[in-house]
Amino acid sequence: MQAFYGFKDGSGDWFVIIDTDKCDGCGKCVAVCPANVLEVDNNEYDPLSEEIVAKVREAERKKVRYSCAGCHPGYGEGTPPCVVACEAGAISHSEGWKLMYGR
Ligand code: SF4
Ligand code: SF4
Repeated sequence: MQAFYGFKDGSGDWFVIIDTDKCDGCGKCVAVCPANVLEVDNNEYDPLSEEIVAKVREAERKKVRYSCAGCHPGYGEGTPPCVVACEAGAISHSEGWKLMYGR
């Protein structure tokens, strides 16, 4: 499933999205994140499962727009490090940053 972490406001939608079916919990996205936004932990959307997946840390979910902004100037030209690191293609970002930076 697609797990959305972030928020929506009048300026756009600001979500880091983890495809929990693709994510294998390798932690490579966590290692490259310059703002300590991510962690790997139990899949909270499937509490009966014991799988470990990437997620946005609880403390970051209301400010992910700002925490991730440093990776997004040039989004579309320069892909955020977490997306580059994820060989499984499990992590993506909503349209807010793309619209804000015009690409
Ligand atoms: S966009 Fe940057 S700050 Fe945001 S989760 Fe990815 S690597 Fe971390
Ligand atoms: S790099 Fe991809 S597969 Fe690995 S923990 Fe992060 S989102 Fe999951």
